[in-house]
Amino acid sequence: MKFIALGAAESGVGAAILARDKGYDVFVSDMGSIKPRYKQMLDAEGIAWEEGGHTAERILQADLVVKSPGIPDTAPMVAALRERGVPVISEIEFAARYTDARMICITGSNGKTTTTSLVYHILKNKAGMDVGLAGNIGHSLALQVAREPHAAYVIELSSFQLDGMYDFRANVAVLLNITPDHLDRYGFVMQNYVNSKMRIMQNQQAGDTFIYWTGDQHIPHELSLRPTAATVLPFSDAPEAGSTGYADDGTFRLTAPVPFTMPMSRFSLPGLHNLRNGLAAAQAALAAGAPAEAVEAGLADFPGVEHRLERVATVGGVHYVNDSKATNVDACHVALEAMPAPIVLIVGGKDKGNDYADILPLVKEKCRAVVYLGADNSKLHAAFDGLGLPIADTASMADCVAACARLAHEGDTVLLSPCCASFDLFRNMEDRGEQFKERVKALG
Ligand code: ADP
Repeated sequence: MKFIALGAAESGVGAAILARDKGYDVFVSDMGSIKPRYKQMLDAEGIAWEEGGHTAERILQADLVVKSPGIPDTAPMVAALRERGVPVISEIEFAARYTDARMICITGSNGKTTTTSLVYHILKNKAGMDVGLAGNIGHSLALQVAREPHAAYVIELSSFQLDGMYDFRANVAVLLNITPDHLDRYGFVMQNYVNSKMRIMQNQQAGDTFIYWTGDQHIPHELSLRPTAATVLPFSDAPEAGSTGYADDGTFRLTAPVPFTMPMSRFSLPGLHNLRNGLAAAQAALAAGAPAEAVEAGLADFPGVEHRLERVATVGGVHYVNDSKATNVDACHVALEAMPAPIVLIVGGKDKGNDYADILPLVKEKCRAVVYLGADNSKLHAAFDGLGLPIADTASMADCVAACARLAHEGDTVLLSPCCASFDLFRNMEDRGEQFKERVKALG
Protein backbone atom coordinates (compact mmCIF):
# COMPACT_ATOMS: atom_id res chain seq x y z
CA MET A 1 0.00 0.00 0.00
CA LYS A 2 1.40 3.36 -1.04
CA PHE A 3 1.31 6.19 1.50
CA ILE A 4 2.14 9.79 0.69
CA ALA A 5 2.64 12.63 3.16
CA LEU A 6 2.09 16.00 1.50
CA GLY A 7 4.03 18.57 3.50
CA ALA A 8 7.10 17.57 5.49
CA ALA A 9 6.83 19.34 8.82
CA GLU A 10 5.70 18.12 12.23
CA SER A 11 2.51 16.38 11.15
CA GLY A 12 3.71 15.00 7.80
CA VAL A 13 6.96 13.57 9.14
CA GLY A 14 5.20 12.03 12.15
CA ALA A 15 2.58 10.46 9.90
CA ALA A 16 5.26 9.13 7.54
CA ILE A 17 7.10 7.42 10.39
CA LEU A 18 3.92 5.84 11.74
CA ALA A 19 2.93 4.73 8.24
CA ARG A 20 6.33 3.15 7.66
CA ASP A 21 6.07 1.32 11.01
CA LYS A 22 2.68 0.00 9.91
CA GLY A 23 4.09 -1.44 6.70
CA TYR A 24 3.18 1.19 4.12
CA ASP A 25 5.44 2.07 1.23
CA VAL A 26 6.04 5.73 2.21
CA PHE A 27 7.04 8.84 0.27
CA VAL A 28 7.09 12.43 1.54
CA SER A 29 6.70 15.41 -0.77
CA ASP A 30 6.94 19.12 0.01
CA MET A 31 6.38 22.03 -2.39
CA GLY A 32 8.71 24.23 -0.35
CA SER A 33 11.96 23.46 1.40
CA ILE A 34 12.10 20.98 4.26
CA LYS A 35 13.70 22.02 7.55
CA PRO A 36 17.01 20.24 8.23
CA ARG A 37 15.60 18.71 11.41
CA TYR A 38 12.85 16.95 9.49
CA LYS A 39 15.19 15.83 6.71
CA GLN A 40 17.38 14.22 9.35
CA MET A 41 14.40 12.44 10.90
CA LEU A 42 13.29 11.08 7.52
CA ASP A 43 16.82 10.02 6.56
CA ALA A 44 17.31 8.31 9.90
CA GLU A 45 14.17 6.29 9.20
CA GLY A 46 15.16 5.58 5.62
CA ILE A 47 12.05 7.32 4.28
CA ALA A 48 12.26 8.78 0.77
CA TRP A 49 11.41 12.47 0.33
CA GLU A 50 11.46 15.33 -2.15
CA GLU A 51 11.30 19.11 -1.75
CA GLY A 52 10.71 22.09 -4.01
CA GLY A 53 7.86 20.44 -5.91
CA HIS A 54 5.58 17.43 -6.17
CA THR A 55 6.25 14.50 -8.53
CA ALA A 56 2.71 14.05 -9.74
CA GLU A 57 3.15 10.57 -11.30
CA ARG A 58 4.34 9.15 -8.01
CA ILE A 59 1.85 10.96 -5.78
CA LEU A 60 -1.18 10.10 -7.87
CA GLN A 61 -0.38 6.39 -7.37
CA ALA A 62 -1.10 6.74 -3.64
CA ASP A 63 -3.61 4.59 -1.78
CA LEU A 64 -3.72 7.02 1.12
CA VAL A 65 -2.53 10.62 1.55
CA VAL A 66 -1.98 12.60 4.72
CA LYS A 67 -2.02 16.30 3.98
CA SER A 68 -0.44 18.98 6.14
CA PRO A 69 -3.11 21.33 7.56
CA GLY A 70 -1.32 24.23 5.88
CA ILE A 71 -2.14 22.96 2.36
CA PRO A 72 -5.54 24.15 1.13
CA ASP A 73 -8.01 21.84 -0.59
CA THR A 74 -7.69 24.02 -3.66
CA ALA A 75 -4.01 23.08 -4.14
CA PRO A 76 -3.81 21.40 -7.57
CA MET A 77 -2.27 18.19 -6.23
CA VAL A 78 -4.98 17.79 -3.60
CA ALA A 79 -7.70 18.46 -6.15
CA ALA A 80 -6.16 15.88 -8.52
CA LEU A 81 -6.01 13.26 -5.75
CA ARG A 82 -9.61 13.87 -4.78
CA GLU A 83 -10.69 13.60 -8.40
CA ARG A 84 -9.09 10.16 -8.53
CA GLY A 85 -10.88 9.16 -5.34
CA VAL A 86 -7.69 8.87 -3.26
CA PRO A 87 -8.51 9.48 0.41
CA VAL A 88 -6.81 12.64 1.70
CA ILE A 89 -6.92 12.83 5.49
CA SER A 90 -5.27 14.69 8.36
CA GLU A 91 -2.45 13.31 10.46
CA ILE A 92 -4.75 13.19 13.50
CA GLU A 93 -7.28 11.02 11.64
CA PHE A 94 -4.50 8.68 10.53
CA ALA A 95 -2.83 8.41 13.95
CA ALA A 96 -6.11 7.66 15.71
CA ARG A 97 -6.49 4.47 13.66
CA TYR A 98 -3.56 2.98 15.55
CA THR A 99 -4.40 3.75 19.16
CA ASP A 100 -7.16 3.14 21.69
CA ALA A 101 -6.02 6.07 23.82
CA ARG A 102 -8.59 8.50 25.16
CA MET A 103 -8.72 11.62 23.03
CA ILE A 104 -9.26 14.95 24.79
CA CYS A 105 -9.63 17.54 22.04
CA ILE A 106 -9.81 21.31 22.11
CA THR A 107 -10.77 23.69 19.34
CA GLY A 108 -12.05 27.25 18.97
CA SER A 109 -11.04 30.42 17.17
CA ASN A 110 -9.21 31.75 20.26
CA GLY A 111 -7.84 30.17 23.41
CA LYS A 112 -6.90 26.76 22.00
CA THR A 113 -3.25 26.73 23.03
CA THR A 114 -3.94 28.13 26.49
CA THR A 115 -6.74 25.66 27.23
CA THR A 116 -4.88 22.70 25.76
CA SER A 117 -1.77 23.49 27.81
CA LEU A 118 -3.84 23.93 30.95
CA VAL A 119 -5.64 20.60 30.56
CA TYR A 120 -2.31 18.89 29.91
CA HIS A 121 -0.74 20.57 32.96
CA ILE A 122 -3.56 19.31 35.19
CA LEU A 123 -3.61 15.77 33.83
CA LYS A 124 0.14 15.22 33.63
CA ASN A 125 1.69 17.32 36.37
CA LYS A 126 -1.09 17.24 38.95
CA ALA A 127 -3.05 14.05 38.33
CA GLY A 128 0.03 12.07 37.27
CA MET A 129 -1.78 10.54 34.30
CA ASP A 130 -0.03 8.94 31.31
CA VAL A 131 -0.88 11.63 28.79
CA GLY A 132 0.66 13.14 25.64
CA LEU A 133 0.30 16.66 24.22
CA ALA A 134 -0.37 16.81 20.49
CA GLY A 135 -1.83 18.54 17.46
CA ASN A 136 -1.75 22.16 16.42
CA ILE A 137 0.33 23.00 19.49
CA GLY A 138 3.30 21.59 17.60
CA HIS A 139 3.76 17.93 18.54
CA SER A 140 2.85 15.16 16.16
CA LEU A 141 0.20 12.75 17.41
CA ALA A 142 1.30 10.12 14.89
CA LEU A 143 4.91 10.20 16.06
CA GLN A 144 3.84 9.71 19.67
CA VAL A 145 1.52 6.85 18.72
CA ALA A 146 4.43 5.26 16.85
CA ARG A 147 7.26 5.83 19.28
CA GLU A 148 6.03 7.08 22.66
CA PRO A 149 2.47 5.88 23.15
CA HIS A 150 0.31 7.24 25.95
CA ALA A 151 -2.98 6.19 27.51
CA ALA A 152 -4.53 9.56 26.65
CA TYR A 153 -3.74 12.58 24.51
CA VAL A 154 -4.65 16.23 24.89
CA ILE A 155 -4.95 17.49 21.34
CA GLU A 156 -5.23 21.06 20.05
CA LEU A 157 -7.22 20.98 16.82
CA SER A 158 -7.35 23.70 14.19
CA SER A 159 -10.19 23.89 11.72
CA PHE A 160 -7.80 22.71 9.00
CA GLN A 161 -7.07 19.54 10.93
CA LEU A 162 -10.78 19.01 11.57
CA ASP A 163 -11.45 19.30 7.84
CA GLY A 164 -9.39 16.15 7.28
CA MET A 165 -11.10 14.15 10.04
CA TYR A 166 -13.88 11.70 9.23
CA ASP A 167 -14.08 8.73 11.63
CA PHE A 168 -12.06 10.24 14.47
CA ARG A 169 -13.91 10.18 17.78
CA ALA A 170 -13.17 12.70 20.53
CA ASN A 171 -13.89 11.22 23.95
CA VAL A 172 -13.83 14.70 25.41
CA ALA A 173 -14.38 17.64 23.04
CA VAL A 174 -14.08 21.32 23.95
CA LEU A 175 -15.39 24.02 21.61
CA LEU A 176 -14.37 27.39 23.06
CA ASN A 177 -15.79 29.88 20.56
CA ILE A 178 -16.28 30.50 16.85
CA THR A 179 -15.42 33.94 15.48
CA PRO A 180 -14.44 34.83 11.90
CA ASP A 181 -10.97 33.55 11.04
CA HIS A 182 -9.20 31.97 8.05
CA LEU A 183 -12.22 32.76 5.87
CA ASP A 184 -9.99 32.82 2.79
CA ARG A 185 -9.78 29.02 3.19
CA TYR A 186 -13.57 28.71 3.47
CA GLY A 187 -14.71 30.50 0.33
CA PHE A 188 -15.36 33.59 2.48
CA VAL A 189 -18.47 31.81 3.80
CA MET A 190 -18.64 31.92 7.59
CA GLN A 191 -20.95 28.89 7.74
CA ASN A 192 -18.27 26.73 6.12
CA TYR A 193 -15.85 27.66 8.88
CA VAL A 194 -18.56 27.07 11.53
CA ASN A 195 -19.25 23.61 10.06
CA SER A 196 -15.56 22.84 10.22
CA LYS A 197 -15.38 23.67 13.92
CA MET A 198 -18.51 21.63 14.67
CA ARG A 199 -16.78 18.54 13.26
CA ILE A 200 -15.10 18.13 16.63
CA MET A 201 -18.32 16.54 17.91
CA GLN A 202 -18.98 14.25 14.96
CA ASN A 203 -18.76 10.54 15.94
CA GLN A 204 -19.10 11.27 19.67
CA GLN A 205 -20.96 8.50 21.46
CA ALA A 206 -22.69 7.84 24.76
CA GLY A 207 -20.11 8.24 27.52
CA ASP A 208 -18.25 10.98 25.64
CA THR A 209 -18.38 14.62 26.71
CA PHE A 210 -18.96 17.81 24.70
CA ILE A 211 -18.03 21.07 26.45
CA TYR A 212 -18.90 24.49 24.99
CA TRP A 213 -19.30 28.16 25.85
CA THR A 214 -22.92 29.34 25.85
CA GLY A 215 -21.98 32.97 25.11
CA ASP A 216 -20.87 32.12 21.59
CA GLN A 217 -22.85 33.48 18.64
CA HIS A 218 -22.94 30.21 16.74
CA ILE A 219 -22.42 27.16 18.93
CA PRO A 220 -25.81 26.93 20.77
CA HIS A 221 -27.74 27.08 17.48
CA GLU A 222 -25.43 24.64 15.68
CA LEU A 223 -25.70 22.23 18.58
CA SER A 224 -29.49 22.30 18.37
CA LEU A 225 -29.16 21.00 14.79
CA ARG A 226 -26.89 18.12 15.79
CA PRO A 227 -28.45 15.57 18.15
CA THR A 228 -25.71 13.84 20.13
CA ALA A 229 -25.46 10.90 22.51
CA ALA A 230 -22.55 12.61 24.30
CA THR A 231 -22.99 14.30 27.66
CA VAL A 232 -23.22 18.02 26.90
CA LEU A 233 -21.62 20.40 29.43
CA PRO A 234 -22.29 24.08 28.69
CA PHE A 235 -20.29 26.72 30.57
CA SER A 236 -21.01 30.43 30.89
CA ASP A 237 -19.52 33.61 32.32
CA ALA A 238 -22.19 33.85 35.03
CA PRO A 239 -24.86 31.52 36.46
CA GLU A 240 -27.60 30.79 33.90
CA ALA A 241 -30.21 28.08 33.32
CA GLY A 242 -28.64 24.84 32.15
CA SER A 243 -25.05 25.96 32.62
CA THR A 244 -22.75 23.46 34.30
CA GLY A 245 -19.83 25.79 34.94
CA TYR A 246 -19.61 29.52 35.70
CA ALA A 247 -18.16 32.23 37.90
CA ASP A 248 -20.42 33.01 40.80
CA ASP A 249 -19.58 35.70 43.31
CA GLY A 250 -15.83 35.23 43.10
CA THR A 251 -16.12 31.45 42.98
CA PHE A 252 -15.33 29.10 40.16
CA ARG A 253 -18.31 26.73 40.28
CA LEU A 254 -18.93 23.53 38.30
CA THR A 255 -21.98 21.33 38.72
CA ALA A 256 -20.77 18.69 36.22
CA PRO A 257 -19.14 16.34 35.38
CA VAL A 258 -18.63 16.42 39.16
CA PRO A 259 -19.32 19.25 41.58
CA PHE A 260 -16.28 21.52 41.98
CA THR A 261 -15.71 24.91 43.56
CA MET A 262 -12.63 27.06 44.00
CA PRO A 263 -12.08 30.73 44.88
CA MET A 264 -11.34 32.55 41.62
CA SER A 265 -8.56 34.47 43.31
CA ARG A 266 -6.55 31.23 43.31
CA PHE A 267 -6.66 30.90 39.49
CA SER A 268 -3.28 31.84 38.05
CA LEU A 269 -4.44 33.45 34.77
CA PRO A 270 -5.92 36.97 34.45
CA GLY A 271 -8.94 38.17 32.50
CA LEU A 272 -12.44 37.12 31.54
CA HIS A 273 -11.21 35.23 28.48
CA ASN A 274 -8.98 33.11 30.68
CA LEU A 275 -11.83 32.50 33.10
CA ARG A 276 -13.62 30.86 30.15
CA ASN A 277 -10.54 28.86 29.25
CA GLY A 278 -10.23 27.82 32.90
CA LEU A 279 -13.86 26.68 33.13
CA ALA A 280 -13.48 24.67 29.92
CA ALA A 281 -10.19 23.14 31.06
CA ALA A 282 -11.54 22.21 34.48
CA GLN A 283 -14.57 20.46 32.98
CA ALA A 284 -12.39 18.67 30.43
CA ALA A 285 -9.86 17.52 33.03
CA LEU A 286 -12.59 16.24 35.33
CA ALA A 287 -14.29 14.47 32.41
CA ALA A 288 -10.92 12.89 31.59
CA GLY A 289 -10.77 11.48 35.09
CA ALA A 290 -8.60 13.93 37.02
CA PRO A 291 -9.47 14.24 40.72
CA ALA A 292 -10.83 17.59 41.92
CA GLU A 293 -7.69 18.30 43.99
CA ALA A 294 -5.53 17.95 40.89
CA VAL A 295 -7.77 20.35 38.96
CA GLU A 296 -7.61 22.91 41.75
CA ALA A 297 -3.84 22.60 42.07
CA GLY A 298 -3.38 22.90 38.30
CA LEU A 299 -5.59 25.97 37.95
CA ALA A 300 -3.71 27.60 40.81
CA ASP A 301 -0.16 27.20 39.55
CA PHE A 302 -0.47 27.01 35.76
CA PRO A 303 2.38 29.24 34.55
CA GLY A 304 0.53 30.33 31.40
CA VAL A 305 1.76 30.07 27.85
CA GLU A 306 4.74 32.00 26.53
CA HIS A 307 3.92 35.28 24.73
CA ARG A 308 0.30 35.31 26.01
CA LEU A 309 -0.05 37.78 28.88
CA GLU A 310 3.20 36.33 30.16
CA ARG A 311 4.58 37.99 33.28
CA VAL A 312 8.20 38.81 32.53
CA ALA A 313 9.59 40.63 35.56
CA THR A 314 9.01 43.47 37.98
CA VAL A 315 11.73 46.10 37.66
CA GLY A 316 11.70 49.21 39.82
CA GLY A 317 8.17 48.31 40.94
CA VAL A 318 6.94 48.21 37.30
CA HIS A 319 5.38 44.95 36.07
CA TYR A 320 6.33 43.93 32.52
CA VAL A 321 3.92 41.68 30.58
CA ASN A 322 4.64 40.04 27.22
CA ASP A 323 1.53 39.54 25.05
CA SER A 324 3.41 39.43 21.74
CA LYS A 325 0.87 36.87 20.47
CA ALA A 326 -1.70 39.71 20.33
CA THR A 327 -1.41 40.35 16.60
CA ASN A 328 -4.89 41.80 16.20
CA VAL A 329 -7.01 44.46 17.89
CA ASP A 330 -9.33 41.90 19.53
CA ALA A 331 -6.46 40.25 21.35
CA CYS A 332 -5.20 43.61 22.62
CA HIS A 333 -8.75 44.39 23.78
CA VAL A 334 -8.94 41.31 26.02
CA ALA A 335 -5.43 42.05 27.30
CA LEU A 336 -6.34 45.63 28.27
CA GLU A 337 -9.44 44.33 30.04
CA ALA A 338 -7.40 41.74 31.90
CA MET A 339 -4.59 43.99 33.16
CA PRO A 340 -4.78 46.38 36.10
CA ALA A 341 -4.36 50.13 35.42
CA PRO A 342 -2.29 52.21 35.00
CA ILE A 343 -0.87 50.61 31.87
CA VAL A 344 1.93 51.70 29.55
CA LEU A 345 0.82 50.07 26.31
CA ILE A 346 3.16 49.08 23.49
CA VAL A 347 1.44 48.89 20.09
CA GLY A 348 2.62 48.70 16.51
CA GLY A 349 4.14 46.55 13.82
CA LYS A 350 2.73 45.32 10.56
CA ASP A 351 -0.86 46.44 10.46
CA LYS A 352 -3.38 44.14 8.72
CA GLY A 353 -5.96 46.85 8.15
CA ASN A 354 -6.60 47.49 11.84
CA ASP A 355 -9.41 49.66 13.15
CA TYR A 356 -8.25 50.91 16.54
CA ALA A 357 -11.59 52.53 17.42
CA ASP A 358 -12.57 49.42 19.38
CA ILE A 359 -9.82 49.87 21.97
CA LEU A 360 -9.70 53.69 22.22
CA PRO A 361 -12.10 53.89 25.20
CA LEU A 362 -10.09 51.28 27.13
CA VAL A 363 -6.80 52.97 26.28
CA LYS A 364 -8.24 56.25 27.49
CA GLU A 365 -9.53 54.69 30.69
CA LYS A 366 -6.60 52.49 31.65
CA CYS A 367 -3.41 53.70 29.99
CA ARG A 368 -0.86 56.12 31.37
CA ALA A 369 1.06 56.27 28.09
CA VAL A 370 1.28 54.64 24.67
CA VAL A 371 4.58 53.56 23.11
CA TYR A 372 4.63 52.97 19.36
CA LEU A 373 6.95 50.25 18.10
CA GLY A 374 7.17 49.90 14.34
CA ALA A 375 8.95 50.68 11.11
CA ASP A 376 6.09 53.04 10.23
CA ASN A 377 4.08 54.48 13.13
CA SER A 378 2.04 57.03 11.19
CA LYS A 379 -1.25 55.16 11.52
CA LEU A 380 -0.68 54.84 15.27
CA HIS A 381 -0.15 58.58 15.59
CA ALA A 382 -3.40 59.17 13.77
CA ALA A 383 -5.27 56.71 15.99
CA PHE A 384 -3.90 57.44 19.47
CA ASP A 385 -2.28 60.91 19.59
CA GLY A 386 -5.71 62.53 19.90
CA LEU A 387 -6.22 60.94 23.33
CA GLY A 388 -3.72 63.42 24.75
CA LEU A 389 -1.70 60.73 26.57
CA PRO A 390 2.10 60.84 26.68
CA ILE A 391 3.47 58.92 23.69
CA ALA A 392 6.83 57.69 22.48
CA ASP A 393 7.85 56.84 18.95
CA THR A 394 10.28 53.90 18.68
CA ALA A 395 11.62 51.63 15.95
CA SER A 396 13.64 49.09 17.96
CA MET A 397 12.98 46.98 21.03
CA ALA A 398 15.86 48.64 22.88
CA ASP A 399 14.38 52.11 22.43
CA CYS A 400 10.90 50.83 23.14
CA VAL A 401 11.74 49.27 26.51
CA ALA A 402 13.82 52.30 27.49
CA ALA A 403 10.85 54.56 26.70
CA CYS A 404 8.53 52.35 28.76
CA ALA A 405 10.88 52.44 31.75
CA ARG A 406 10.92 56.24 31.49
CA LEU A 407 7.16 56.64 31.22
CA ALA A 408 6.01 54.05 33.78
CA HIS A 409 5.59 54.79 37.49
CA GLU A 410 5.97 52.34 40.34
CA GLY A 411 3.01 49.93 40.41
CA ASP A 412 2.24 50.35 36.68
CA THR A 413 2.06 47.54 34.14
CA VAL A 414 4.00 47.78 30.88
CA LEU A 415 2.06 45.70 28.37
CA LEU A 416 3.41 44.57 25.01
CA SER A 417 0.14 43.78 23.20
CA PRO A 418 0.87 45.21 19.79
CA CYS A 419 -2.34 44.64 17.73
CA CYS A 420 -0.07 43.96 14.76
CA ALA A 421 2.07 41.34 13.11
CA SER A 422 5.78 41.56 13.86
CA PHE A 423 7.38 41.18 10.45
CA ASP A 424 8.42 44.81 10.01
CA LEU A 425 11.08 44.66 12.74
CA PHE A 426 11.18 41.03 13.91
CA ARG A 427 11.33 37.52 12.48
CA ASN A 428 8.01 36.55 14.05
CA MET A 429 5.92 37.14 17.15
CA GLU A 430 8.16 34.81 19.19
CA ASP A 431 11.26 36.81 18.25
CA ARG A 432 9.46 40.02 19.25
CA GLY A 433 8.49 38.52 22.61
CA GLU A 434 11.99 37.15 23.25
CA GLN A 435 13.62 40.50 22.48
CA PHE A 436 11.17 42.22 24.80
CA LYS A 437 11.98 39.82 27.61
CA GLU A 438 15.74 40.20 27.10
CA ARG A 439 15.55 43.99 27.17
CA VAL A 440 13.34 43.97 30.27
CA LYS A 441 15.65 41.58 32.10
CA ALA A 442 18.62 43.81 31.18
CA LEU A 443 16.90 46.71 32.96
CA GLY A 444 16.99 44.92 36.32
P1 ADP B 1 -5.13 30.06 19.93
O1 ADP B 1 -4.25 28.87 20.17
O2 ADP B 1 -6.56 29.67 19.64
O3 ADP B 1 -4.57 31.08 19.00
P2 ADP B 1 -4.19 31.18 22.47
O4 ADP B 1 -4.47 30.39 23.70
O5 ADP B 1 -2.83 31.10 21.89
O6 ADP B 1 -5.27 30.79 21.37
O7 ADP B 1 -4.58 32.68 22.74
C1 ADP B 1 -4.34 33.65 21.74
C2 ADP B 1 -4.96 34.97 22.11
O8 ADP B 1 -6.39 34.86 22.00
C3 ADP B 1 -4.71 35.41 23.54
O9 ADP B 1 -3.54 36.19 23.64
C4 ADP B 1 -5.93 36.21 23.86
O10 ADP B 1 -5.76 37.52 23.38
C5 ADP B 1 -7.03 35.58 23.04
N1 ADP B 1 -7.88 34.61 23.78
C6 ADP B 1 -7.47 33.55 24.52
N2 ADP B 1 -8.51 32.87 25.01
C7 ADP B 1 -9.62 33.47 24.56
C8 ADP B 1 -11.02 33.23 24.71
N3 ADP B 1 -11.50 32.20 25.42
N4 ADP B 1 -11.88 34.09 24.09
C9 ADP B 1 -11.43 35.13 23.37
N5 ADP B 1 -10.11 35.42 23.20
C10 ADP B 1 -9.22 34.61 23.78
